[in-house]
Amino acid sequence: MRAAVFQGLHRPLAIESLPDPTPRKGEVVVQVGRCGICGSDLHMSEDSAFGKHPGDIFGHEFAGEVIALGKGVERVAPGDRVSVVPLASCGHCPTCLAGEPAWCDRMALQGGGYAEYATSHENQCVLLPKTASIADGAIVEPLAVALHGVMLSGLAPGTGCWCWARGRSGSASPAGRAGWARARSWCRISRAIRRNAR
Ligand SMILES: [Zn+2]
Ligand SMILES: [Zn+2]
Repeated sequence: MRAAVFQGLHRPLAIESLPDPTPRKGEVVVQVGRCGICGSDLHMSEDSAFGKHPGDIFGHEFAGEVIALGKGVERVAPGDRVSVVPLASCGHCPTCLAGEPAWCDRMALQGGGYAEYATSHENQCVLLPKTASIADGAIVEPLAVALHGVMLSGLAPGTGCWCWARGRSGSASPAGRAGWARARSWCRISRAIRRNAR
């Protein structure tokens, strides 16, 4: 497969030919249809604090079609269209079983979307409804980040709010046409902000 591969800090990614991935037990192979470029990906390519190594494949906002299954996979099947939640975790500790993989001791941000194929644990695959495209599936993660922020904000219906943020997650938070705060009738937004958000 072809993949955009990390070459080291402050160096551009390079397109390389790599072996197609083989799924391990509990994993699936996803043929990547769309993958977002996150601000975190840019930071990972510039800051050693992220611990990335040459040969790594970035891209954690992706969706595609399941094309192969590892042993024991039961929740998804070949042909399923899925969005991949980029939080790899153990899957059986109390926080994982409570649906909070972000707090698992073994939580790790999964990349792999800057390639034709990526592996993922079946637990990280969210089936897309017929009404959602693969492109829609690739923005599930940033939209979820925005929704989480709005939920934490304590906004109540009718509250005025101001969002100082750029990019996809920022514009999805309060003011965009699909903004979560608007969708949940949580905020009144001034015309100026509305105009800037278009
Ligand atoms: Zn991201
Ligand atoms: Zn866990």
